[in-house]
Amino acid sequence: MLNRQGRATQPGEAASAVVHPTFTGNRALQQEEALIFEFGRLDATGVDVDEPVAFTSRLGGLERRDGIGLPGLSEPEAMRHYVRLSQKNYGIDTGVFPLGSCTMKHNPRLNERMARLPGFGDVHPLQPVSTVQGALELMDTLAAWLLELTGMPAVALSPKAGAHGELCGMMAIKAAIAHKGEAGTRRTVLVPDSAHGTNPATAALIGFTVKPVPVRADGTVDPESVRALAGPDTAAIMLTNPNTCGLFEPDVVEIAEIVHAAGAYFYCDGANFNAIVGKARPGDLGVDAMHINLHKTFSTPHGGGGPGSGPVVLSDRLAAFAPVPFVVRTADGFRLVESEADAAGQGAQPFGRLTAFHGQMGMFVRALSYMLSHGADGMKQASEDAVLNANYVRACLADLLSQPFGDRPCMHEALFDDSWLKDTGVSTLDFAKAMIDEGYHPMTVYFPLVVHGAMLIEPTESESKASLDLFIAALRDLAMAAKRGDAERFTGAPYHAPRKRLDETRAARQPILRWTPPEPVRDAAE
Ligand SMILES: *Cc1c(COP(=O)(O)O)cnc(C)c1O
Repeated sequence: MLNRQGRATQPGEAASAVVHPTFTGNRALQQEEALIFEFGRLDATGVDVDEPVAFTSRLGGLERRDGIGLPGLSEPEAMRHYVRLSQKNYGIDTGVFPLGSCTMKHNPRLNERMARLPGFGDVHPLQPVSTVQGALELMDTLAAWLLELTGMPAVALSPKAGAHGELCGMMAIKAAIAHKGEAGTRRTVLVPDSAHGTNPATAALIGFTVKPVPVRADGTVDPESVRALAGPDTAAIMLTNPNTCGLFEPDVVEIAEIVHAAGAYFYCDGANFNAIVGKARPGDLGVDAMHINLHKTFSTPHGGGGPGSGPVVLSDRLAAFAPVPFVVRTADGFRLVESEADAAGQGAQPFGRLTAFHGQMGMFVRALSYMLSHGADGMKQASEDAVLNANYVRACLADLLSQPFGDRPCMHEALFDDSWLKDTGVSTLDFAKAMIDEGYHPMTVYFPLVVHGAMLIEPTESESKASLDLFIAALRDLAMAAKRGDAERFTGAPYHAPRKRLDETRAARQPILRWTPPEPVRDAAE
């Protein structure tokens, strides 16, 4: 008999599908792990500290009288606890992470090496500027590359995530509108129905009213819908390109012209920049502001692995309103413009400051390291390969999974809907959960909202053909099982994960964030 990988099954192997409970609760080398509070002893410690020398307290009787209740562990116990927890995590270093719209690409180790160089790793944001000229030069060089790749004249480096970049760009737009004396009238932001939730949230957060733009049947935005909605009350459009359906907006230039003719601004959500780096420049498409997720497109760690970084490129119409701080090059070296007064001396009118210091320096080093190690040709090839890989996945699944916008090429992510699951008793969520049993982090599900039961797969360029082939084979096997009527494989999945199917809604709505010690066991023999 052949198993799913085409490997001959050994006698007794079929029985391994039945998971027998173990005495310890461990599953082979996957260890169960209790909360640190459950096994840490209050009287234990991993360090040998001398008894304190007698001293007179100066707290006037306010000192704590009882223990602080923190669990004490020996060093090996502490080590095992955290290593076991880390093994429960799934990341890009463990396997394919096909989350659409998130660009979970490999984080090159060269980036890490560069970020740990003492001149970058040990730098402090309050050091005298004369001692950090190299760090400022790195920021200036990164900025120059971002401008080159986007065809834009200015960039604000300090935002610390894509959504933070959206806030930065939209605040610059708001400042520009106020500068023109139109703050009272231009209060509406147009947002297509396919947008990421952060877009309307950003607009609403800073006081704009969000007006949805319908998406046409082919998954893109019709310029006529924008024309019908744009007017003297419009502040901006927030458009994602390539969009969240994995499609390049074919009428993006016309949309930009319509928005500009209405006296409004074009904010582009640049989270999907990985599809077009080196191929198309947002500046040529009429964009006024666009964030770049360094943690997506430029390979810096993402999710649990590191902080985000979301520089925003700005057009000439918005450049003056960029926030402080920023780096300027002078005859005597690099200088940081920290205050609004200083910026005014440079002819700028910053809308203010977004972060305490200068942005995610460690991520700047990693992103520039990625850019320089790839070179111009390499970055262009990376986006071509990202698109190629997504289309390979799409084409290899096209006979089994349904595509909402027809069997046609996509950009860097492939979008499927759930119409192929009709009458199988299996939902998009069930299918995603069954992927966990196969050792894969699920793709993005139920987003974009315009597609019923959406499954958005973004393999990125960093997957080899062999790894894509196994991923595709696993999805094909699951899809055929669903179509065969093997609903049980899905509805309770994941069966092999330590906690099986979680009630995620309840976990989000009623989180239990506090551990309470169990009641002491009463002595029964009274
Ligand atoms: C990831 C993403 C964002 C937000 O970026 P963060 O860095 O997660 O804040 C915005 N829009 C789209 C389309 C995205 O994929």
